[in-house]
Amino acid sequence: METLLQTLNPERPILLLDADEVLLKFVETLEGHMLNHGFELRLTSFQISGNVYHKATNELADPLQVKKLIGSFFDECVDHVPVVDGAVDALAELSEHFQVAVLTNVPSHCRERRENSLREQGIHCPVISNKGDKGAAVKRFTDFTSGHTVFVDDLPPQHASVAELSPETHRVHFVADKRLRAMIPQTEYSHARIDTWPELTHYLKDLLKA
Ligand SMILES: [Mg+2]
Repeated sequence: METLLQTLNPERPILLLDADEVLLKFVETLEGHMLNHGFELRLTSFQISGNVYHKATNELADPLQVKKLIGSFFDECVDHVPVVDGAVDALAELSEHFQVAVLTNVPSHCRERRENSLREQGIHCPVISNKGDKGAAVKRFTDFTSGHTVFVDDLPPQHASVAELSPETHRVHFVADKRLRAMIPQTEYSHARIDTWPELTHYLKDLLKA
């Protein structure tokens, strides 16, 4: 992250984007991965653990098995997660107004593969691999720039973390998958809830004018 900060302009706004379920179709790809391994993800609530079943026996998978499936997902699929509709055009436009970086909890050994995969799909942004809560990482950017910082993520606990450690950061709750969207209300720790890239682009350009 320090190397990245050295390349940024301390006076321009910074947009920090989550990858899975913001830029990338995570859940859809995870479903395919699970099926390939004999498991089925049944999305009945906004979580993965507790919604995974053995295909053959119909039994609930245990949490350790789910953890393993998510681990192998990154190793096997990180190069092949498709970009969310509209994200490429949106980032081309938003890059004129913001310095953009991807702040993702991808395992650190997959960071470069994720950056390459995004680039191959038309998104040319540095990727930071974070572990756990994102608030401390976001605060580094907020302390660095005199411009706005904006944070976009699908997970409410990440908004809570950023709200606590970097309260001046503008926070947008974004859930790309249409089924998941319906299962989760806007988190109270965000300033706005937006689920599509054209709307987010419009919103963020207005935010800079305000
Ligand atoms: Mg995510």
